[in-house]
Amino acid sequence: MRAVVEVNLKAIANNIKLIRNQTSAQVLAVVKADAYGHGLIPVAKCAIDSGAKWLGVALLEEAVKLRENGVTAPVIAWLTPPNSDFKEAIELNIDLSIPSLRHLELVVAAGKALGKRPRVHIEVDTGMTRGGLLGEWNEFLIAVKGADIDVVGFWSHFARADEPEESANTLQLLEFENKLAELRAIGISPEFIHFANSAAILRNPNSHNDIVRLGISMYGLSPDINTLGSSQSLDLEPAMTLKAEVHLVKRVPAGSPVGYGGTEITSRDTKLAIITMGYSDGIPRCTTNNAGVFVAGAKAPIIGRVSMDQFVVDLGPDSDAKAGDIAEVFGPLGYSIDDWASAAGTINYEIVTRIATRVPRIYA
Ligand SMILES: *Cc1c(COP(=O)(O)O)cnc(C)c1O
Repeated sequence: MRAVVEVNLKAIANNIKLIRNQTSAQVLAVVKADAYGHGLIPVAKCAIDSGAKWLGVALLEEAVKLRENGVTAPVIAWLTPPNSDFKEAIELNIDLSIPSLRHLELVVAAGKALGKRPRVHIEVDTGMTRGGLLGEWNEFLIAVKGADIDVVGFWSHFARADEPEESANTLQLLEFENKLAELRAIGISPEFIHFANSAAILRNPNSHNDIVRLGISMYGLSPDINTLGSSQSLDLEPAMTLKAEVHLVKRVPAGSPVGYGGTEITSRDTKLAIITMGYSDGIPRCTTNNAGVFVAGAKAPIIGRVSMDQFVVDLGPDSDAKAGDIAEVFGPLGYSIDDWASAAGTINYEIVTRIATRVPRIYA
């Protein structure tokens, strides 16, 4: 075994149940980006079995893959640029997000060509200044009235839900209510209103509405460890463990430069282990020695630069680690996903989603 991602589906099931106990809204399990690196199909099936009523993805191809694998639950795809195959989406009963007038026209035309009414969720930009309708709202209201579509949902996305005290959250909710009132005033009353991501689910019950879109916390991770606390303090269990095999163990004297550029030098006589993963597997090259692996019963920090397929850790002089041992890169024993994120100057979302597809996923 060179390297493997172990996914604990029971942890995902428990995390979903924990969230379901905190809201009366339906849960939409966000499984974009290969279920945050955990594997689209096994996670989607686990989420549905654990009571999620909806699935959410960014790309149409992700939604199509769900249908091809027999997943029949409602699926929303919310990042479908104008050249997407809207007809295929409508044929497969995939709900589409409508973030612009142009999208409305394209989806209506696709529905007409098929003779089937598209199911859509109108997306409004309430202050994030990214996805959703903004400047063309009034034109949109005229166009959507009487359009041949089923407006199933109305939604927006928070920019700063991980800062629960931030007034921007209240302003976004106000803008959302105003836009919704204007839509209702022209006779369109969507059944499903949705706004909340994980951070808002955990900290802003006012934003739950009819559906909550549960992403990172379903995988057992905190949306922001600084403002919301750790996985542990939120009672969430991280579902992903990453392991890799030790390729070599070598004893080296103090003063040995390690890796490209010789950026770090051993400070004592020690043992090093070469771990068989690198930046092409998704180990961030910029990771500092505040991360590393757990092997032979102890933590061993990274020393020197991460290479394409390998990195080196300092075992210390007394380690019993040997070539062929399996090291835990992140997981319950040693370094956490959050440790890796802070050592690489990023967020846990990026650590889990960037683990390359060449690393097999196994499920327990
Ligand atoms: C990714 C995403 C989510 C989930 O966000 P988390 O912070 O991971 O819970 C919810 N809604 C939309 C539109 C998203 O793109």
